[in-house]
Amino acid sequence: MPVETELYDVLGVSPNATESEIKKAYHQKAKEHHPDKNPNNPAAGEKFQELLAAYETLSDPQLRHIYDAHGLDGLAGPGAGMGGGGGGVDPGEFFASFFAASGGGMNFGFDFGPGGAGPSRRRGKGEDTVIPHDVTLDELYNGKTLRLNLEKEAVCGTCKGSGARGSAKPKECSMCEGKGWTMAQMSAGSHLTTSRVACSNCNGTGEKLREKDRCKKCKGDKTVKEKNRHEVVIEPGMADKQRIILAGAGDEEPGTPAGDVIFVLRLAPHEAFERSGSDLLTTVTITLSEALFGFSRILITHLDGRGIQMTSPPGKIIKHSDTIILRGEGMPVYKKPGTKGDLYLTFTIEMPDEEWLKTVDKTTLLSLIPPKKADIEPRPAVVSTAAFEETDIEEVRERYFPAGQDFFDRAFASQFGEGDEDEWEDDEDDDEDDEYGAPGEPECRQQ
Ligand SMILES: [Zn+2]
Ligand SMILES: [Zn+2]
Repeated sequence: MPVETELYDVLGVSPNATESEIKKAYHQKAKEHHPDKNPNNPAAGEKFQELLAAYETLSDPQLRHIYDAHGLDGLAGPGAGMGGGGGGVDPGEFFASFFAASGGGMNFGFDFGPGGAGPSRRRGKGEDTVIPHDVTLDELYNGKTLRLNLEKEAVCGTCKGSGARGSAKPKECSMCEGKGWTMAQMSAGSHLTTSRVACSNCNGTGEKLREKDRCKKCKGDKTVKEKNRHEVVIEPGMADKQRIILAGAGDEEPGTPAGDVIFVLRLAPHEAFERSGSDLLTTVTITLSEALFGFSRILITHLDGRGIQMTSPPGKIIKHSDTIILRGEGMPVYKKPGTKGDLYLTFTIEMPDEEWLKTVDKTTLLSLIPPKKADIEPRPAVVSTAAFEETDIEEVRERYFPAGQDFFDRAFASQFGEGDEDEWEDDEDDDEDDEYGAPGEPECRQQ
């Protein structure tokens, strides 16, 4: 992992490059290869498009993530989310066709292996090891240090990575006669082609040690398994999908620097808090009497275990969905000790239940609380009667609304008005205006 590095190679950066390194490399190369600067070189345009496509892919965290996990196939595949468009080059499609046309890349040789789906080898560095690590929001809030033992391939100390016993030398591979490759039939779409593939006997090296010439410790493998103790520090404010890189802690290969071990944080949903950058959102349920007469109590337990005590302002009636902000009570800001975002707290009002209603004098209660609504005036000419049937909106979300979570979380309230009478009345006013004809007015007006 990542499964391919072509796009990184185009920009000349390492797969671990930061966003700013990628940007810098792109600007530098784009300047160099811009067609305007190379009017006599017809290939400059193509090179420039290639740079642009690589940059467009790698500068988008989502596309980069897909590419790292699935390579160009992932980007070209359905639902890979090549958003944007806007008439530009589609990087996934461009690269898929570009690399297909150039016969599997820029001299990648045997990296694709039989069937073309093999992992490509990183050049200049050992294989990186990517380890997903599940974290909770509490851990990202408070920080945490993990101590773990990791196993890796290390260059054999006995043979110093030659795989040979003493000064024994490998002999020419008998299967490929030293070429390192053999011919094999591969299917490319509907037709079969014959291509070179890495020799399976010598792994493409063209040489092989005889049994008796192999190093005793590594059995000729050149590397041995080695366990090392590591500390992985999850710092307060780190994000979902953030990478923690243990440089050089990955697998070693003779003659190349060790790969890295990369921990990719995977945040599990929290039962009480939602995170948006350095801000947090939570819901607090209060009773009807608290909504009417206020409260003074510990409202929530924060992610560090602290209780948050609050007294509502006297005379303030809290309505359903009212939201307050607790400044500086959000997530710690990464790499900025002592700085935190804000905490948004949305109130849900718990209505009393039917059991409670049985215990009170309904006539008295009805005379105390605001009256019921009258029918709509003027009464519509046609009125249908509907039955009162309960349903579960959570189920409806899952079954019928492909728009997904965001639609409900962000748009549901405004879509269905959440019972805010003023809004409805305003809508009716608008309709009246329309009857008298307001030419040039937009059909939908914002309240
Ligand atoms: Zn050895
Ligand atoms: Zn061979």
